[in-house]
Amino acid sequence: MREGSLEAPTRHRLDWQNPEFYDQAKAEKELGRVFDICHGCRRCVNLCTAFPTLFDLVDASATMEVDGVAKQDYWKVVDQCYLCDMCYMTKCPTCRRIPGTSTSRT
Ligand code: SF4
Ligand code: SF4
Repeated sequence: MREGSLEAPTRHRLDWQNPEFYDQAKAEKELGRVFDICHGCRRCVNLCTAFPTLFDLVDASATMEVDGVAKQDYWKVVDQCYLCDMCYMTKCPTCRRIPGTSTSRT
């Protein structure tokens, strides 16, 4: 989608029928990878509550990196995402969509 255009936004379906969609260990591994990229960028801090939640968790951790955030706290970030796709469509320069997520980054 070009900025300022009248094109329909590209939307991607959640791959909820894929058994891997429900694999918590894989989800947490992918979330950790994505969170690390977003922590290094922080461009989307004002888009929704998910990003400040993540950055506060990182900044309060012992390492001040994503590896210092407890895996169970990852879901506090996920719970703040209402899948509006604003970060994907308007902000992220590194975004490559991964089925089953809204905020995946490569
Ligand atoms: S898709 Fe989720 S993380 Fe991205 S801006 Fe919307 S609510 Fe925030
Ligand atoms: S979604 Fe993209 S632009 Fe936004 S903070 Fe993460 S890496 Fe940066």
